[in-house]
Amino acid sequence: MRQVSVFGSTGSIGQNTIDLILRGDEGEYGVEVLTGGRNIDLLARQALAVGAKLAVTAYDDCLAGLRDALAGSGTKVAAGQGAIADAADRPVDWMMSAIVGAAGLVPGLRALRHGSTLALANKESLVTAGPLLMGEAARHEATVLPVDSEHSAVFQALVGEDMDAVERVIITASGGAFRDWPMEKLAGATLEQASSHPNWAMGQRITIDSASMFNKALELIETKEYFGFRPDQIEVLVHPESLIHALVGFVDGALMAHVGPPDMRHAIGYALHWPERRRLGVERLDLARIGALHFSAPDDARYPALRLARQVMATGGLSGAAFNAAKDAALDGFIDGRLGFLEMAEVVETVLDRFGSDSSLGNAEVNLDNVVQTDHLARRRADEAIRQKRQA
Ligand code: NAD
Ligand code: MG
Repeated sequence: MRQVSVFGSTGSIGQNTIDLILRGDEGEYGVEVLTGGRNIDLLARQALAVGAKLAVTAYDDCLAGLRDALAGSGTKVAAGQGAIADAADRPVDWMMSAIVGAAGLVPGLRALRHGSTLALANKESLVTAGPLLMGEAARHEATVLPVDSEHSAVFQALVGEDMDAVERVIITASGGAFRDWPMEKLAGATLEQASSHPNWAMGQRITIDSASMFNKALELIETKEYFGFRPDQIEVLVHPESLIHALVGFVDGALMAHVGPPDMRHAIGYALHWPERRRLGVERLDLARIGALHFSAPDDARYPALRLARQVMATGGLSGAAFNAAKDAALDGFIDGRLGFLEMAEVVETVLDRFGSDSSLGNAEVNLDNVVQTDHLARRRADEAIRQKRQA
């Protein structure tokens, strides 16, 4: 029996992961840990469905509810960030890291220490602490498998290939909710408009990040950190149909494209069954019916997030931690109405400039203390920048 844990099981990636686990053969999986946030009802239902040994909520005030919901079930309960980190110490064969944001970093690091295979949906841990995470994996001979669709696509296109023969990597972007909007309308984009994606059903934060291309910005950095490509080898291509997820270009001019429906169960299933391929109940594409695929170069004026990501990749070190935290704080600002849609990138740029003028983010060691400190400082600076905008 394979022992597995799902961190962030109540989210969009987490629910799809549970769905795949439940479709496994009788006795195929033993579920050690599930973690969630405030959706106690769902967390408890999942724990009962898979027979989890432990269910953890991130919030202390949700513990009593979780305990009631799971009374008599045999599933133990716990609450708080510390309990989530401790739960990652329970050895498993496979762990899904699907908490959203920087909170996903510590559980992933702890799981790698006992050699678990880490299925990594939480791109923020590679953006904030790529060298630390990949270094920890190497030290403990643990495997990290990408779950982000573009990175799973690159990973699959590289199977059996010589890394030295790779010339470039192209990750695609749908263009998000506003790809057809005129620039002058973007400033007035509302939360509701930014929260619906044309092709993918995902959590709210990543959906808004897709509209602003901050998601693709994170993914550029994720590509560099995970595969170790040079920044100038990594390209973004706008592809509105979201059917080609990534392409790998080789020295002989060949491009290997990964094509599939926009359904995260594919990338999750690939990581769950790797190195095998198993039958998955995702849509089969009828290319003759689809007829045409479209591509265009991203417009830098429209998507400043991509330019900022290039700056972060060039700087390296702790700049990813600053970038991710500033983006997160700006996103909070947009969600609660303190910032306009286009102002998110302005705030992130202000924060990066601040760091650029008074510290050497690029040369600092990427250890957990430094990452956490940089994260906190960047959030404070972003909040300051937001306040200044509102006062101006
Ligand atoms: P989501 O918002 O739907 O779910 C997030 C999960 O994390 C929930 O279980 C929530 O309870 C938990 N969580 C939130 N904040 C937490 C905190 N501070 N501490 C502990 N747990 C917390 O998010 P999602 O869309 O499933 O995305 C999860 C991760 O996967 C993100 O890093 C995202 O970028 C990445 N990802 C998602 C998709 C997608 O299709 N949804 C695709 C690629 C990558
Ligand atoms: Mg992606």
